[in-house]
Amino acid sequence: MVATLREFTNPTDETAAMQERIHTFCDAALNLVFPPSCFACGRELTPNSSCGRILFCADCLDQLQIYEPPFCSRCGCGQLGSSEFCPHCLNDKLDFDRAIALGDYGGHFREMVLRMKKSSGESLALAVGELMWVYCRDRLREVEADFIVPVPMHWLRRTRRGTNSAAILAEVLGRRLRVPVRPGILRRHRNTLPQSGLSRRQRVRNLSGALALGVSYGLQGTRVLLVDDIMTTGSTCNAATGLLKTAGVVHVTVATAVRSPAV
Ligand SMILES: [Zn+2]
Ligand SMILES: [Zn+2]
Repeated sequence: MVATLREFTNPTDETAAMQERIHTFCDAALNLVFPPSCFACGRELTPNSSCGRILFCADCLDQLQIYEPPFCSRCGCGQLGSSEFCPHCLNDKLDFDRAIALGDYGGHFREMVLRMKKSSGESLALAVGELMWVYCRDRLREVEADFIVPVPMHWLRRTRRGTNSAAILAEVLGRRLRVPVRPGILRRHRNTLPQSGLSRRQRVRNLSGALALGVSYGLQGTRVLLVDDIMTTGSTCNAATGLLKTAGVVHVTVATAVRSPAV
């Protein structure tokens, strides 16, 4: 059943190329009617100041610390030491198989991720999702995911914030990869404290029992792309991976907009 689903959702390269051309044509037509502005600073974009279909001006793009290879094989960052792992991951026990991250949580990215978490930041989250696609598409395609699952947010926090940036990023990547997004696979049935500001041990304790498997879609033997906006210690993604693997998932790759190594 999984193989059939994958064949159905992944069209041939020719179809993908045609859809890409249609996207480009529609974007060009829209840009004539509504001249785009940079999603980070609001400055109006001209053909020379924008970066293709990415709606960020060149100045803002220059300030983002986007990772370049080689990447840490555990957390996906681009800050390798002398081994295949970055200094932050040498002693970490991360249960997922691989991670992909767009850039470093600092400077401009920090400001953007904080804005994405507000209800007014939905369009920014969409733009960051597109940025993930542009810079990480080869790595994302290599996952050959059967499903995309956003890290779940408790309904109370979703209501309070008015948005869920992980779910928006997952939707963008699902549309680009043509892989179904299944937010119902995981749920957060206990509202937890925000993880930021907690120590590594406190983060694990804070999450204990907070996540659960939701609807079962027949996960046996499948590959999952787990999506979140930020990864710090990896404890949330570890907890989610544990649940997915008990349900029979064989491979979990985590994709986040940014990586913020714990200190
Ligand atoms: Zn800008
Ligand atoms: Zn690392």
